[in-house]
Amino acid sequence: MHNEAPLISIVVIGIGLAFLLGTLANRLRTSPLAGYLVAGIAVGPFTPGFVADQALALQLAEIGEILLMFGVGLHFSVKDLLSVRAVAIPGAIAQVGVASVLGFGLALLLGWPPSAGIVFGLCLAVASTVVLLRTLQERRLVDTRRGHIAVGWLVTQDLITVLALVLLPAFAAVTHDAAGHASGPAGTEAILRTVAITLGKVAAFVALMLIVGRRAIPAVLHFVAHTGSRELFRLSVLSVALVVAWVATEVFGVSFALGAFVAGMVLSESQLSQRAAEETLPLRDAFAVLFFVSVGMLFDPSVLIKAPFGLIAAMVVVGIGTPVTTFFVLRRLGESWVTAATIAVGLAQVGEFSFLLADLGIALNVLPRAARDLILGTSILLILANPLLFALIERARPWLERHDPIPVPALTGETPAPEPEPVGLQPTLLADHVVLVGFGRVGRLVADELARHEAPLLVIEAGEGDVPLPEGGTIEVLRGNAADPAVLAAANLQAARLLLVAIPDAFEAGQIVEQARALRPDLRIIARAHFDAAVEHLSRHGANVVVMGEREIARSMLDWARPAVTSADTPSAA
Ligand code: AMP
Repeated sequence: MHNEAPLISIVVIGIGLAFLLGTLANRLRTSPLAGYLVAGIAVGPFTPGFVADQALALQLAEIGEILLMFGVGLHFSVKDLLSVRAVAIPGAIAQVGVASVLGFGLALLLGWPPSAGIVFGLCLAVASTVVLLRTLQERRLVDTRRGHIAVGWLVTQDLITVLALVLLPAFAAVTHDAAGHASGPAGTEAILRTVAITLGKVAAFVALMLIVGRRAIPAVLHFVAHTGSRELFRLSVLSVALVVAWVATEVFGVSFALGAFVAGMVLSESQLSQRAAEETLPLRDAFAVLFFVSVGMLFDPSVLIKAPFGLIAAMVVVGIGTPVTTFFVLRRLGESWVTAATIAVGLAQVGEFSFLLADLGIALNVLPRAARDLILGTSILLILANPLLFALIERARPWLERHDPIPVPALTGETPAPEPEPVGLQPTLLADHVVLVGFGRVGRLVADELARHEAPLLVIEAGEGDVPLPEGGTIEVLRGNAADPAVLAAANLQAARLLLVAIPDAFEAGQIVEQARALRPDLRIIARAHFDAAVEHLSRHGANVVVMGEREIARSMLDWARPAVTSADTPSAA
């Protein structure tokens, strides 16, 4: 194909194909990620037909990572990060250590020199931030303790990678020299100096952000908000994310991901800036998709035939070695089975950091080229397997929770925060009950009032955060997405007296209403909407009453305004 505009081609074909195959994957009941990866393989150089520009794809993927980490930072405060440090830092160091040793052993088995083994081991030990975050987001786990530990773990791994990347050239020089003259002490000194400088730069960056950025960034946003231009305002938020990430990398030698994460964290301190920044994030999803496409593009399927032993062994290191170590380390640190299992499975993959390390290792002649194929093969196969493993953990979760022995006392002295209540789709035994979907700003107020009445209440909430139930009344919580037929089936709508759909998304609410109506043609359904088309959509799908937030606000404002307006009118009327 004629390819005069490679950037446009990759964006159009990459996103278009990812959409088609992602939808197909979803239909086949697997994660859309599998579809994105296959889209990447299809536009990659190892399959016939259109070949997209790999270097461009990787850069676009990098932007996706910046936006993703920025988004995660927005929901993270410094306090959150500090609260998991006692688990995340030692945990990540132990896990990276064990996985590196396993990778090192595998490299020796493959007949590579020990220096290659060290780099290969590290490549297999660091997980992909993008993959783990996407999985956590898909399952709405980012704001739970499990999510916080996972992010702290990723940040620690990220720092280890940054160190490894700067140390690799010095390490390569030492290993090459070792063959010639003895340069041991001088080499060690050089390495120590590089470590000190790198850590110093990271510390300087974080300090700068926490001292100056914390004040300057919200001030800039307020200033731009005064211009009254929404466009400029969004642009300012996006600039903050990109510029901070770029400066972090170019000036301080920190990774893009870490830079963006800290920028988001600084903004998260103010709830208003946080909300504003969230508006800019839809871009993030499109770029995150390109990340998976770019990983698919790098994959050469012939490695499956050329090096099956190496590939299987590398997959065992990452797919079994890492999660088993992580699980035991987390247990030792006092975490519950569910927390330990979720994070363990989440880390059972490798991605962008491993590719970076491998590329540098090959460029410096420390790592053989074959290592790259093994790492890519492992990456793609384990990214494909990851959603399945997560689904297994979700299924096993009720069992894990029931059989978790008395929690191991935390070595750190910190008691882990309580996990959200068990999920499990046990059908409710309630009858003549009210079903309330969504326990957010609206659902909570509704539940508070309903608890005062005698009707039993069943709350369906998809998020994993706390559901602080009001006092009194019979109340049950069902965890899950109410648009999922299995969740709705567990709500015993057949015997319910009322369904309240208190979620903001019109598409999802429409799905819920439609399914509920099919299950119970005579059920009274009250739904929430935020724009006229949504009111129409929900009514069409079977809601008896649709309450539109904005109209209610207007009505209430008028109620409050009326006395003032009428009293102003009165004198002239008199
Ligand atoms: P708010 O807009 O603050 O009232 O929050 C809406 C709440 O509904 C949030 O807590 C969401 O987690 C929850 N929610 C959104 N979609 C669904 C869904 N499909 N099923 C169950 N809960 C949902």
